[in-house]
Amino acid sequence: MSGQEFYEVDLTEEKDSADDVSKRDALEESEEHTKQEDYEEICCLCRRPESVAGKMTRIQGNFSICNDCMQRMFDALNASDFSMGGRMDMSRMPNISMINLADLQGCSPFPQKIKKKKKEEKAAPVFDIHNIPAPHKIKASLDEYIIGQEHAKKVMAVAVYNHYKRVASDREQNPDVEIEKSNMLMIGPTGSGKTYMVRTLARLLDVPLAITDATSLTEAGYIGDDIESVVSKLVAAADNDVDRAEHGIIFIDEIDKIAKKKNANQRDVSGESVQQGMLKLLEGAEVEVPVGASSKNAMVPMVTVNTRNILFICGGAFPDLEEIIKERLNQAASIGFKADLKDKYDREENLLMQVLVEDVRKYGMIPEFLGRLPILFSLEALTEDMLVRVLTEPKNAIVRQYQKLLEMDEVELAFEEGALFAIAAKAKEKKAGARALRAILEEYMLDIMYEIPKDDNIGRVTITKEYIEGNGGPVITMRGIAGGRV
Ligand code: ADP
Repeated sequence: MSGQEFYEVDLTEEKDSADDVSKRDALEESEEHTKQEDYEEICCLCRRPESVAGKMTRIQGNFSICNDCMQRMFDALNASDFSMGGRMDMSRMPNISMINLADLQGCSPFPQKIKKKKKEEKAAPVFDIHNIPAPHKIKASLDEYIIGQEHAKKVMAVAVYNHYKRVASDREQNPDVEIEKSNMLMIGPTGSGKTYMVRTLARLLDVPLAITDATSLTEAGYIGDDIESVVSKLVAAADNDVDRAEHGIIFIDEIDKIAKKKNANQRDVSGESVQQGMLKLLEGAEVEVPVGASSKNAMVPMVTVNTRNILFICGGAFPDLEEIIKERLNQAASIGFKADLKDKYDREENLLMQVLVEDVRKYGMIPEFLGRLPILFSLEALTEDMLVRVLTEPKNAIVRQYQKLLEMDEVELAFEEGALFAIAAKAKEKKAGARALRAILEEYMLDIMYEIPKDDNIGRVTITKEYIEGNGGPVITMRGIAGGRV
């Protein structure tokens, strides 16, 4: 009896272990499966993954090839001369002679794969470009990040509002009134927030943004980047999604560097010609751009992008533009009954705010180019007061960032008002606008960030004016004890 019982128990145990094995197998299989799912195939020619290049064709020897490369190979074969009695002369086929698949075989017995990029969870966009909010709301959001520049923010908010309304109306068939593009030309000294404004705007709208430097652009065929490479960058910023790219923003910085050169003896491949070359892009054209590379060549797949709804924003410091504006103002002031002192405008600050299209044309931008950037506005140079606000007020202000870092060590960081003004004064001396602030603050915060975590008893650090001016130190306060100077 007991033996039978024993036997029965034994059987169930065996059954259990068989179940366990099958479960383990299933688990391993599913793990293997998820592991495999984490990987995707890449094209053995252009090296693009399946998520970018589309479905792959498996060829002998465990290789995968994307449809674009496959098409190219066929095109090359078709283009070559087949009237050779059925024999194919590989050396006469463009591109194909260079790729010998037999060479590739044997290098890898397994299909080539790369790990899939994890899809980032995207925060919901602040604005929806298909239902764009009123300009005052756009400006209010910009206010959270950008200090001053009231005029620029207002102009930009209205321009963006109109632009995306135009994009919406574009979808209607035969609209009765065709709205023009609101491309912008932004003039302002370095560090006044030109790039920062565009970046913030693109983030709020959740549209792809490409930032390029006009200095690197040259006329097609010369050393440098083709003008169309700016569109290529936008496609890359939109993760190769052409539809998204077509509603994006392209910011071209240092636009003053492509002004017409004064001596017109040589061919101006990086100045006037670039302006000429940009005309059709600014207006709206279909351009064929390479995907995943900045230059066109036989092996890079191409996509067609329509720039009609892409918002172009050009920015530049235009260094001597103030002289041109001053000259115009002085000339106007010294003529007729209302004649004024000749040097009335010599000491005026922020002359850039009075810029007119004719001044920029005089500077060397061609009229056709300026005609395609109908919205012209200036940013003011940041004053000391504004620099102090840049340090403390924006949502991601530098001072707040340091405070957050020290808060993690349970240390409070405070700045005396005098210290903030001393930092602003130093930044102003450097003539690089708000750009100088971070470097200056970092210099002073280095010792503090190094020393504070050493001692758990420190509860508060106060940055003083004396510390910034080099004749004192910060005030360190211990937890529960009155503070003392270091
Ligand atoms: P530029 O006008 O030369 O393009 P940037 O936009 O690159 O200047 O500014 C450099 C940095 O200075 C920005 O990253 C931003 O942190 C800060 N900054 C500049 N202007 C402002 C501003 N008006 N408000 C807040 N921060 C600013």
